[in-house]
Amino acid sequence: MKAETRRGPADLAEVGRFVDLEIAPRANTFEREEWIPREVLSRVADLGLWAPFLPPEFDGEAMDMVTVGRVHEEIGRGCSGLRSLLTVHSMVSASVHRWGEPAQQEQWLRALARGEKLGAFCLTEPDHSGSDSTAEGTTAVRDQDGWILNGRKKWITGGQVADVFMVFATTGAGTSTFLVESDRPGVRVTPLPHVMGTTASMLAEIEFTDVRLEPTALLGPQGWAAGTVMTNALDLGRYSVACGSVGIIRAAIEACAAYTSVRSAGGVLLRDLPHVRQMMSGMVTARDAARLLCEKAGALKDAGDPATIMATWVAKYHASTSAVRIAGDAVQIHGANGFSPDYPVGRLYRDSKVTEVIEGSTQVQELTIAAEAYREVAQ
Ligand SMILES: Cc1cc2nc3c(=O)[nH]c(=O)nc-3n(C[C@H](O)[C@H](O)[C@H](O)COP(=O)(O)OP(=O)(O)OC[C@H]3O[C@@H](n4cnc5c(N)ncnc54)[C@H](O)[C@@H]3O)c2cc1C
Repeated sequence: MKAETRRGPADLAEVGRFVDLEIAPRANTFEREEWIPREVLSRVADLGLWAPFLPPEFDGEAMDMVTVGRVHEEIGRGCSGLRSLLTVHSMVSASVHRWGEPAQQEQWLRALARGEKLGAFCLTEPDHSGSDSTAEGTTAVRDQDGWILNGRKKWITGGQVADVFMVFATTGAGTSTFLVESDRPGVRVTPLPHVMGTTASMLAEIEFTDVRLEPTALLGPQGWAAGTVMTNALDLGRYSVACGSVGIIRAAIEACAAYTSVRSAGGVLLRDLPHVRQMMSGMVTARDAARLLCEKAGALKDAGDPATIMATWVAKYHASTSAVRIAGDAVQIHGANGFSPDYPVGRLYRDSKVTEVIEGSTQVQELTIAAEAYREVAQ
């Protein structure tokens, strides 16, 4: 993105140590308590990880997207709940940077880059299919003072702790995007407890009742969010989820390597059983393939090449479906212990399934990628 790029193994090594020492050992607790303590979110801020792709004038580091992907992979290796928070915060930060007026950028970007304010992405609704992003029941009606927002959003990652919601709403002809502070009168946040995966991502349902917004709350073109703000944000989210899925695969490999090196069956260490070796080989190959696809998508983003959109679909499809399969193998390798909260693989299994549903489900991806195949052949 920029010449002054904070990249290189030293930074990633630092993130890796953070994950090894402060995240991975606590991730099962985060999952059980359905909460990530503020002090951990502050550590993410100390490391400058909330929105490092923003330019230095907004307190970012102009980090290139390949490196951003590696950071999300590392965090995903430790805790998918935390990676999910990073995903939606990145989507909001990048959207304000790309589509915001200078005053909106001034208002939000430094606080988002420093992690002083957290962002959440509000598209899905309880009464509409999330895959069909055009079906908003949430409305924003213009009056002389600004906008009046009404509606409900569900499954909002980070909704319990976010300071600003990026909300998609129907404004007459089409969909528009609004930046809504979580403490505005008329905003009600209801936690969504006991979900199957990424429970630490502090999901919430958000209700907007006659929420009054200034005209400046509108982000990007009115009525055109579907092809602009939403498309860009979802592409970035998809990329982050793909990279986070690589992290899940890595965590599964680490857990299985450790477990099979101490656990025996019939006097033989599990690591010496051929079927375990076969599964481990599949894990390593899937990790490398998924990471290469992520790097390709990231490099195309850095080059500003629109081909990144399809490359990101492909990366996410491969990485998320591989993560589900491999997390399942990891549970299998652990036997009954795979079901125990004393090991990470049960959590990896639950979290991996989320990656197949969000940011374009596996089935929607299959439609999109297959359509591209037919387009390519027709040319
Ligand atoms: C843990 C978690 C976190 C989330 N975080 C957020 C968030 O931060 N912000 C947000 O806005 N949303 C969030 N979501 C919602 C998520 O984006 C939606 O769940 C997702 O878009 C799928 O929508 P849906 O659940 O309504 O499923 P549906 O769209 O109802 O799909 C149901 C099934 O039908 C299939 N399907 C749908 N359409 C088609 C089609 N055209 N062809 C073939 N099959 C199809 C799907 O693949 C799926 O298997 C989150 C969800 C989860 C589980």
